[in-house]
Amino acid sequence: MAHGAQNIMVVLSSPSGVGKTTITKKIQQKYQSFKISVSHTTRTPRSNEVDGVDYHFISRFKFEELIKKEKFYEYAKIFDNYYGTSKQSVDSTIKTNDIIFDIDWQGTKQLSKFKNLKLIKIFLIAKNKEELKNRLIKRNQNTKLEIDKRFKSFDEDIKHWSDYDYIIINDNLDSCFKQIESIILNYKKKFTFPQISQ
Ligand code: ADP
Ligand code: 5GP
Repeated sequence: MAHGAQNIMVVLSSPSGVGKTTITKKIQQKYQSFKISVSHTTRTPRSNEVDGVDYHFISRFKFEELIKKEKFYEYAKIFDNYYGTSKQSVDSTIKTNDIIFDIDWQGTKQLSKFKNLKLIKIFLIAKNKEELKNRLIKRNQNTKLEIDKRFKSFDEDIKHWSDYDYIIINDNLDSCFKQIESIILNYKKKFTFPQISQ
């Protein structure tokens, strides 16, 4: 994986429903330099999702074929479906843009193995489990069974917070966004204006 000189990679992970998608979209809207990594998945699209924009929706057969051909930097099985990040799209995007990844802790571990990456890892949590459940219900994009599965994965997900550089509580959306914005911009500055060692 070869970076454009100043381009960075930002990983946002959280238990499902905390607000990753909302925040990654806000970053992309505000900063033209950031592109959201569009993952491949075998899950079915939600009513508001567009193929090629939110995900590349593919069959399990095709996904397993791509695994065999080593086309992913990382992939994981989550809630009975595969999700993965294609090498091809990351390699071409990073030459010209910063990238935000909305991926889980398993994928983050796999990306962390590439020691040459300018990768900053942020983990989001909700202020409590009740709020998380409310958001999953309010999003209204999952069946009751899917909501239960996602909610139950919370305890496993948060065990992995220590793999991340920052943990942020997404309570008030604007203030959470500002914190993330400031972390990312500071990180990016490091590569745009490298420190001269004395
Ligand atoms: P994720 O991508 O982490 O699964 P989403 O971004 O889809 O989560 O957010 C889940 C739901 O919570 C959405 O309906 C979103 O509008 C809402 N949401 C996100 N952040 C906040 C917040 N700070 N306060 C209240 N609701 C929020
Ligand atoms: P959802 O089905 O709600 O869109 O996503 C479910 C979970 O899959 C979220 O935790 C999301 O971060 C994760 N995810 C999405 N794309 C990828 C990916 O390419 N790789 C990995 N490891 N996780 C992903």
